[in-house]
Amino acid sequence: MSKKQFKAESKRLLDLMINSIYTNQEIFLRELVSNASDALDKRYYEGLTNQIDSVSRDDLSIHIDLDKENRTITITDTGIGMTEAELENNLGTIAKSGSLEFQKKLEEGQNDVDIIGQFGVGFYSAFMIAKKLIVDTKPANNEPANIWESEGEDGYTIQASNKESIGTKITLVLKEDTEDENYSQFLEEYKIKELIKKYSDYVRYPITMEVTKYIPDPTDEEKTIETKEEQTLNSMVPLWKKRKSELTEEDYNEFYKSKFNDFQDPAKVIHYNVEGNVSYTALLYIPKKAPYNFYNGDFEAGLQLYSKGVFIMDKAKELLPDSYRFVTGLVDSNDLSLNISREILQQDRQVKALANSIEKKIHKALVDMLEKEREAYEEFFENFGLNLKFDIYKSYGFNKEKLQDLLLYKSSNEDKYTTLKEYVSRMKEDQKAIYFASGASVEEIKKSPALAKVLEKGYEILYFTDGVDEFVTQMMQAYEEKPFKSVTSNDLDLETEEEKKDRETKTENNKDMLTKMKEDLAGQVVDVRLSSRLTDDPVCLVAEEGVSLEMEKILSLNPDNPGIKASKVLEINPNHPIFETLQAVYNKDQEKLKDYASVLYNQALLIEGLPIEDPTEYAKKIVELMVAAK
Ligand code: ADP
Repeated sequence: MSKKQFKAESKRLLDLMINSIYTNQEIFLRELVSNASDALDKRYYEGLTNQIDSVSRDDLSIHIDLDKENRTITITDTGIGMTEAELENNLGTIAKSGSLEFQKKLEEGQNDVDIIGQFGVGFYSAFMIAKKLIVDTKPANNEPANIWESEGEDGYTIQASNKESIGTKITLVLKEDTEDENYSQFLEEYKIKELIKKYSDYVRYPITMEVTKYIPDPTDEEKTIETKEEQTLNSMVPLWKKRKSELTEEDYNEFYKSKFNDFQDPAKVIHYNVEGNVSYTALLYIPKKAPYNFYNGDFEAGLQLYSKGVFIMDKAKELLPDSYRFVTGLVDSNDLSLNISREILQQDRQVKALANSIEKKIHKALVDMLEKEREAYEEFFENFGLNLKFDIYKSYGFNKEKLQDLLLYKSSNEDKYTTLKEYVSRMKEDQKAIYFASGASVEEIKKSPALAKVLEKGYEILYFTDGVDEFVTQMMQAYEEKPFKSVTSNDLDLETEEEKKDRETKTENNKDMLTKMKEDLAGQVVDVRLSSRLTDDPVCLVAEEGVSLEMEKILSLNPDNPGIKASKVLEINPNHPIFETLQAVYNKDQEKLKDYASVLYNQALLIEGLPIEDPTEYAKKIVELMVAAK
């Protein structure tokens, strides 16, 4: 029998865990009981649907044994068990789903506790208190039983077992106590009773244990006799079937953490009961943080589905609209058949009705949160707002009505988050559009010269810092009939009649010079104009209708992008001294103007955060101009 090594990243994680980055050792029990309960769910369900021999509910249970002498805790379930391959896959690799991602995060030096929370490594938490774990398991599909053993860091072994009953028996051999650590406390009956009540009371199968009892000695009144009595430690009422008034925030949070693989409390709990066309109970959670893989494709959304308290499937994605795919939780309906398969789920009318109802409830919960718990909502939005935006974009604006009032943007109004409704309520009387400016960050946007005129008018500007923001406004077009307008748009239309006339006259009088500059910058800009949006800055770069500068930046990140570029326009501030300088240069030496045009263009690119094509040439020209100015 050879010893197998844990995969590299597993080893790393195990080290972290054994060196007790978990502050909370006692959760090992919650994790193991939760796994056992899942295994019982699976066995019951597969029995009902004839995938394996059926089993009576009475035969499904979890039993805990404490052995002080040998310092062991044993947790035995009559669940689905594991085949040899499953042992290998499930227990040989920690964080299997995200191992690469996991390693990356470790290398990036992220907070360890956070990482573990994101990956969920329930079973291994037992190594916090155990020096050795033994998993003896017989699968329900008639394959042979096996024993998996590990002392943590140096790998694990698997060998044949003679276990006769179906299910899994996990034995923890506890570490020796030290000055700082009292592992022996977990061998005390009262401690285990307390932990089961605290973390696993709702488990729908009996969790039993032999509990010591003292009864009066019939032969001697002065004495008591010690006997053992099997007790069920949990109340077995599924948490979601309890009344809201019976439940505390802690109940909800503990249930969430044990069931949905998160180590943090949720941001929001939504628990309700619907009687009607389809009757169901839902217990939904919005996590505090987006899971590590939420935005990168392999995140699996969906709710757990139960029918009359029987677990049917995990991650039923048909129950959740894409806009709210960050929600996790469960739905228990009395109206669904136990035999409902994933395929049926997609077409079933009742499932559709269920999904619609769930969508409305989540929407309402978010609206409520926005209205009544602004701070919590803003934190929610920082994690999941991007998903709402993507959904508006992906649905070609179809979901706009539902989602637009849930959007938040930072804006020039004190740099705080605002909704579109709030923005519109602050609009000036003469203001026709909702203005926005795009960039990588609020700080970067605020530096853009193109904001000046809009701000001077006293109009608020939304700061678009997500790549998808401009694409979303293209889909939305308007909010409450107010069109969205970029501060760099061509028809900004904010000048007074007088200013406009003045600019047009100056344009007319300097037509040749502007044309010359445009020729000098051929291939780089499509036009050179006098600006209507600048106040103090000499130049800025804007784009013609269509692809904006920000979109160009985003599209350039896509390796498949065929080189889509914005049609750039260099704008010159007619009220800045640079304008007179340009006129003077042009009048003296037309050819010299080319250097000025090039320097100003490059400068405008830099301000916009776009790369300049030839930095060396740019630097050289600046020095030449400085020398010439002597
Ligand atoms: P998670 O529960 O988040 O999947 P764990 O590390 O706790 O992660 O468990 C890994 C896997 O091992 C489980 O998904 C399950 O397939 C299997 N497993 C763990 N405990 C048991 C058990 N008591 N019976 C059957 N399978 C189990």
